[in-house]
Amino acid sequence: MKQQILHLDLDTFFVSCERLIDSKLQKRPLLVGGTGDRGVVAACSYETRRFGVHSGMSMKLARRLCPEAVVIRGNSSIYTKYSRLVTDIIKDKVPVFEKASVDEFYADLSGMDHYFGTYKYASELRSTIIKETGLPISFGLSANKIVSKVATGEAKPNNQLRIDEGFEKPFMAPLSIKKIPSVGNKTFQVLRNLGIDRVSVVQQMPLEMMTSVLGQNGKTIWLRANGLDNPPLVPFHERKSISTERTFGKDTTDITKLRTTIFAMAENLAFQLRRGEKLTGCISIKIRYSDFNTYSKQLKISYTSADHILIPKVMELFDKLYQRRLLIRLVGVKFSDLVTGNYQINLFDDTEEMLRLYDAMDTIRNRYGELSIQKAAGMGARTIGRFHNPFSGEPPTLLAHRNQ
Ligand SMILES: [Mg+2]
Repeated sequence: MKQQILHLDLDTFFVSCERLIDSKLQKRPLLVGGTGDRGVVAACSYETRRFGVHSGMSMKLARRLCPEAVVIRGNSSIYTKYSRLVTDIIKDKVPVFEKASVDEFYADLSGMDHYFGTYKYASELRSTIIKETGLPISFGLSANKIVSKVATGEAKPNNQLRIDEGFEKPFMAPLSIKKIPSVGNKTFQVLRNLGIDRVSVVQQMPLEMMTSVLGQNGKTIWLRANGLDNPPLVPFHERKSISTERTFGKDTTDITKLRTTIFAMAENLAFQLRRGEKLTGCISIKIRYSDFNTYSKQLKISYTSADHILIPKVMELFDKLYQRRLLIRLVGVKFSDLVTGNYQINLFDDTEEMLRLYDAMDTIRNRYGELSIQKAAGMGARTIGRFHNPFSGEPPTLLAHRNQ
């Protein structure tokens, strides 16, 4: 059966949400991000881009490049709300879909052409999203996940594009190699220095040449350039949570010990999220008392992977749940409703120093192990940590000295 993969991407998502709330912002150059002296641009409208503004740059520089821009401090709870609204519409209309990030989706429309015509179905889905949310969204439709994503990029803003089967290569050929997903700035420079700027050049090169220059990544780029890389969809319901539990050697009511353990668990899970480039939208706490009665409590939150937001919420939830003051046998922390994404959605509260601190701490953990650096409040709990990457697809290591 012929595959039909739809890629949907909301246009300048944070900016569009702000314009929905305040229509005076329509068509005006807009910067969303940290408004303080050391803030960072989380999103910028199309009008600011010709001034050289892009997301991730310091707000100070962006303001200098585009002084007439309106600057708005972002609000992740609004973006989370709209992200969930769009997700619910797609969930309603498509049986198998992947939520690739807060504003990006893949849907498998294979087989639907029999009954509806996939392009018509995709067009109607897009109209429904625009009508029900007021947010502009674009799509690309083809037999191939990567080609559809590239097609969405070419369709933007607020438009749609179908690439028929057999036309993947000619569609990709005239584009800049920068348009291939996974070609970052560094790879782009390497290829540019070799005189490779268009996808057509990669298409004409032998695969071995790309592999000898860029290794495995070279192979991926070559396959993508030729419309041959078609990774499977990761359905939304799969891998939706990461969790950790601790059974105490001896049941306890030692509140300091309990809070230290929970703190360290939350800190470790937050690191796992960032390493897997994931955000969580729901936290839960579990307590099992010595009589084996088990209680849990969960809280929906705005998408985040930041310690300074997650840990206080986890601690608050634990304090709410632990009311019985009975002996505790086990505690657990779980993050669910996971989507792919990075700090970007939380950039508003953060300074460049804060982002660099996270970066530095995670670099140390990646190099020297998860426990090489910890916040002081979690240091009593020495053996918290999963010692593996839950997103790598490999099974977790069981540790002999731990009660599982
Ligand atoms: Mg987008």
